[in-house]
This record gives sequence, structure tokens and C-alpha cells, in this order.
Amino acid sequence: MKDEIAELRLTAESWSPQEVLSWAFETFGNEVAISSAFGAEGMALIDMASHVRKDFRLFTVDTEFLFPETYSLIDRVEQKYAIKVERVFPLLPPEEQERALGAALWARDPDQCCNLRKVEPLRRKLRELDAWITSIRRDQTSFRKGAGKIEWDVKFGLVKVNPIADWTSQQVWRYIREHKVPYNTLHDRNYPSIGCTHCTRAVRPGEDARAGRWAGSSKTECGLHMIEPLTIA
Ligand code: SF4
Repeated sequence: MKDEIAELRLTAESWSPQEVLSWAFETFGNEVAISSAFGAEGMALIDMASHVRKDFRLFTVDTEFLFPETYSLIDRVEQKYAIKVERVFPLLPPEEQERALGAALWARDPDQCCNLRKVEPLRRKLRELDAWITSIRRDQTSFRKGAGKIEWDVKFGLVKVNPIADWTSQQVWRYIREHKVPYNTLHDRNYPSIGCTHCTRAVRPGEDARAGRWAGSSKTECGLHMIEPLTIA
């Protein structure tokens, strides 16, 4: 599979998001799922997927620190698309994490907190699958700029599908408005990128779209889409 993906990678670059999704659903059947945190990109992708396959699989890593607005959007997604969102939780509930590692780990060691609450649950979920679909865009962070629409995920060892890798934020929002896709109401309150309550703030005029994530630290990614350069196959 790894070799087939390497051959397909260039060809897939000319495919539309819907063509990439069709390929993923036809190739992997029930062994592929969309991973989403229900940001604007994720919502556009979920809507597109619903037009390609009605019973698509969708999962989310619930850190148990999400905004009420995000939880309410998850409920809306389940109703609108008539699917059950598969929720994956960290091994330690927040109180146990605090007992084991002290209060406010996110403030003292956000990498460890993200590893426990995002990366480990994701790794566990991906073991069930042959491929996962994400809504990352190349211009979001420096780690994402080399993302292929179809690629081998060296970090987690399965196929990774990024149908809107070449889209801009403007295209995402055009799609959302044209198709009347529901979205997180925090976006209307200057939260262009939304994660956990502890590590997300509204952006100020002129700031980068991801400036509200882990503000005040050099961290820009939770680790789900980061590849250490030395591990690239
Ligand atoms: S975003 Fe913050 S609270 Fe959420 S898992 Fe990462 S460090 Fe912890």
C-alpha cells in the first residue's frame, strides 16, 4: 500500500476534494474515517463527504476540555447528517490527570498534555483503521505545507487523506456559505482556530489566524499532524 500511495500521490494532486473522498471511500470502505475537531475546514469537509457517501465514519478526539459551543456543534452534526460521531477519550479523565501530574498541566507542559489528551487517543483510534481523512490545509502551519492530498502517514503508519490540502481559508468559507453548512459560533467571535478552552483565545485585529492557539508559547501544533524530519520515509 505504501508504494501504491507514493505512485498515486502526484496524480491525486489534480483531483477535486470530492474525487479524493470518492477514492478514499471506494478504496477503504469502512476502514476509513474522517477525523475532525469541527473547525471551519472540518465542517466543509464533513458536508462534502455527506454528498459522496451517506454513512461515512467520523470521529473526534474529545480532550474533555472543549468549548460548550464545540460540543453543541457535534450534536448538530449528528442530527444534520444522521450519523453517530465516534468519540475517543484520553485514558485519564481530567481529575485523574490532575492527581497524577498536578494542576494545569497545559500551562506547565502543553506538549505532555497534548500527548496525553490528543496524540495517544488518536494513535489508539488509528490502529482500527487503514486510512484517515483530515481537513488540514497547507497554508495553516509550516508543518502542513508539504501535505499531499493522498500520502503515507509515517508517524501513525497508515494512509492519510487530505482532500482540501490545497484550499485557502476563503474557499472554505465560500463553501460553508454557499452550502449553508453549520459552523462553530465562536468563529463569529474572533476565534478562527478552536481547540481546548485552556489553550485557545480570540485573535486580535491583524494577528495570524492561529495566534489564539497556545498564545504566549512557541507551540503551534498539538502533534497530530507533525512529522519529525528524520522520520520521513
Ligand atoms: S490543547 Fe491545551 S488543554 Fe488541550 S490537550 Fe493540548 S495542552 Fe492540553
